Amino acid sequence: MQLLSASESYLLGRRFRRLLRWAGLAVGLGLIGLGLWSITQDYHSSRRLAHDNSQQLTDNLRQLSEMTLEQTALSLSSLGSELVPASGAHTEPDARALQTLLEGAIRFDSVSQLLFVRRGEQLVAADRHQSLSPEALQRLRQLPPPEVAGPLQLLSPIRLNDQQGELLPMLMRLSGPESGQEWLLGALIPLAALHPPAPPQDSDAQAPLSRLEQAVYLLDGQVLMHTGEPTPGTGRLAPESELLARLASEQPGGEFKTSSGYETELWGTFRRSGRYPLLVASLQAEAQMLAPWRQRSATKGVMLALALLALGLGTRTLQHMLQVLATSESVYRRLFEDVADGVLVLDPTGRVLALNPAALRLTGRNQGEEVVGHALSEFFPHPIDPATGQLSALPRQRMQRALAGEQLRFEYSFDAPLTQQRVDCEMRLSSFTLDGAPQLLCLVRDLSEERRFNRQQDYLANHDPLTGLPNRHSLLRQLDERIERQPGHRFELVFVNLARFKEINEAFGHRAADMVLEITARRLERQLLTHGWSLARAGGTDFVAVPPPPGGPAPGLSTKDVCELMVQASREPITLGDTAVELHLKLGSAEYPADAPDAGQLLRCADVAAARARTVVGSQVRYSRSFEHAPGHDLKMRSELSAALRGGQLQLAWQPKLWLESRELEGVEALLRWHHPRLGWIPPSEFIPLAESTELIYPLTRWVISAALDQMARWQTLGQPLKVAVNISANNLQDPDFTDHIKGLLAQKNVPAQWLELEVTESALAVNPDLVLRRLQELRAAGMPLALDDFGTGFSSLSYVSQFPFTSIKIDRSFVSALLRSPRDRHVAESTIALGRKLGLRTVAEGVEDDSTAAALMALDCDVGQGYLFAKPLMGQAFEHWRHTHQSKLLAARRQAAGQHR
Ligand code: C2E
Ligand code: CA
Ligand code: CA
Repeated sequence: MQLLSASESYLLGRRFRRLLRWAGLAVGLGLIGLGLWSITQDYHSSRRLAHDNSQQLTDNLRQLSEMTLEQTALSLSSLGSELVPASGAHTEPDARALQTLLEGAIRFDSVSQLLFVRRGEQLVAADRHQSLSPEALQRLRQLPPPEVAGPLQLLSPIRLNDQQGELLPMLMRLSGPESGQEWLLGALIPLAALHPPAPPQDSDAQAPLSRLEQAVYLLDGQVLMHTGEPTPGTGRLAPESELLARLASEQPGGEFKTSSGYETELWGTFRRSGRYPLLVASLQAEAQMLAPWRQRSATKGVMLALALLALGLGTRTLQHMLQVLATSESVYRRLFEDVADGVLVLDPTGRVLALNPAALRLTGRNQGEEVVGHALSEFFPHPIDPATGQLSALPRQRMQRALAGEQLRFEYSFDAPLTQQRVDCEMRLSSFTLDGAPQLLCLVRDLSEERRFNRQQDYLANHDPLTGLPNRHSLLRQLDERIERQPGHRFELVFVNLARFKEINEAFGHRAADMVLEITARRLERQLLTHGWSLARAGGTDFVAVPPPPGGPAPGLSTKDVCELMVQASREPITLGDTAVELHLKLGSAEYPADAPDAGQLLRCADVAAARARTVVGSQVRYSRSFEHAPGHDLKMRSELSAALRGGQLQLAWQPKLWLESRELEGVEALLRWHHPRLGWIPPSEFIPLAESTELIYPLTRWVISAALDQMARWQTLGQPLKVAVNISANNLQDPDFTDHIKGLLAQKNVPAQWLELEVTESALAVNPDLVLRRLQELRAAGMPLALDDFGTGFSSLSYVSQFPFTSIKIDRSFVSALLRSPRDRHVAESTIALGRKLGLRTVAEGVEDDSTAAALMALDCDVGQGYLFAKPLMGQAFEHWRHTHQSKLLAARRQAAGQHR
């Protein structure tokens, strides 16, 4: 079986349809030709037959009339010999004897009258009908004597009376007994006797002449009788008689046709008598003669038309059917060619009979001819049976089962012979019958891409995309499996942290930092792999080194040695631009099951150990339980904090806020700092929440306000008053004595209320809002400005917030720092500023770190900026110094501006 291509099939279909059209046309023309031929043949044979019949009839009529004449002639000559005996001894017979003789003769004759004429007078001897009137006799007497000398002569017909019709005189000249005496013997033959009698009305005998045929008798070129004329024998020349007379003079008989003179054309045959000047013709209307032929031709014509109609309809139907077939064939062909699955037709031995393009792609060949006729196993090789080392018999068995009627569905993987690429596919095998022979239908769905995708997904889910190392998820699973396989079997993990990596990030950017991470990961992995260890990335700058699994190559190196190797590997500097970067590893190890019972906890322990390593000299720290916050850790910290409160370990740092437009100092924010005697500086994020979780926050805030007021009073006396913003916790607002306390402090330190700003975070409004609102109203009523801190991080809208008596809003630094990068954050900042302006609130941007952000904020019409661009939070003298320098700079700038102006 050879499958045609779509274009071949299309062309073939079109050619076949065209062929069909031409064939139909040819058959139609053939039928028409045949019909016409048959009609003309029929015409000719009809004519021939008519001619033969007519000729036959004419001959018969001629013979009949000749016989009648012959008989009369014989009668006359025998009478003559009686009257004039050959002996010559004759006497003139007397009238009576003559009469008897003639009457005797007439009895045996068909003639009407016999005459005997003597000496110029005529004697009628016999009259069969007794109808000879004296006038008739007179007329007979006047018959002209025969012109030609001879025994017999025919004259023009005469009519004696009305009953008898026309009579043809036949005369015979006799020599009388006396010399010179001439007798005439004559007979009158009824014209009707020349012509066959008409059959009786009721007779069904076949008449020689049918009603539609006519006979014409000519005597000496004159019409003797015309059966079609009502009164024949008048000597009138029928139009055809002239023609007949002319024809008869030329030939003894034949066919003729009148060309004019009648409405209908007449046709017939004629025959001249050899003995008498008589011509007989039979004729009929030509149309009549051709009528049966016409009838037959009409029938044939109708049948031909019907045949042509049937042929046309048949051809059309066939063409339509072909068209329908072609259309449905093209639909199935498209399906066959465009379907993503491979479709193959195989013979029972597994040889490929046909295949679609998808199947061709799977074979790795370009042309169907390279595949058709070959065994499928050449392209989809049979797997090797691991038991026998031989080719597996499974494919052959499957084919047998499919041929037996089973529908099989199975997965099949092989290495493509041409590309050596792994192909995974799903096959469906079934059998069907084609031209009476069983065939196999094999559907192949290529799953390679899907499998590859799954493998890739699997890879991505378990690997870190940057370094290609197993990720935390994969690491934990691997460790879980390991513990599950050999519970209690000890091993030690090493948590690796890249110390001070943040600096690299900040100095060189993320791209370079990523590169450093990648290089480091590769170096570490290389070192570890040579000793059977493996490396995973736990996230960020953290890696984990895992010892070889039990049963593998014996771990020749101790954990300590491995750590040393990694430290060595990381020492080699990495060049970024023109800087050589040296990494510092902080390593923490933890052991299963001594330190932790499962993978998750083990990893955490190693992490804790690595974190501890960051705080000590040296690179590696072994986990110890003592690293964990001991129970009561928070308690301890809290008591330490309260001690700090009393013992002067707390200090305030001042961070300036500047008017963005003029860069003049708007005020400062007081930020708390704790210098722990043992732990050093502790950031507020670590101890403020601790204070907030107890009532410690009350004395803490009071301390801050008091310390701030002390400083403000000092600045005041120095003549440099400054507005100070203090951060207030949500708990403080719940404190019923809070307002009174501050009022008391303000009065005590002699600082005007409008110089002390209170910053409240958005989240503080959520707890007991009615009370908070009342408290804030009290504070505001007392004259203190109120700032809404960290705006944008909570969920409240500005319109809700507008119910509270704030005087300014601080846009959270997360939005400010991303202002130039994120359109969304820019939108938040922009709408906050716009709405703040509408509500009459001062807008303050936190975390301004660079000039372009400051410029952008200015463009957005933000009032005040705070951030590292202007100054970090500064303590004591550092702040005083900054303030002085800033003041001088402003002054210089102002002078310069004034100078330029002048
Ligand atoms: P906050 O009120 O939002 O304070 C601003 C924080 O942003 C400060 O951190 C400051 O150092 C930091 N900062 C200022 N400018 C920039 C900048 O340009 N870039 C970046 N990245 N950071 C900048 P700090 O001092 O660590 O304070 C942290 C938080 O601790 C404060 O956030 C505040 O909520 C709280 N806090 C500090 N002092 C007190 C206090 O006396 N009482 C209370 N209740 N909370 C306080
Ligand atoms: Ca603040
Ligand atoms: Ca803030």
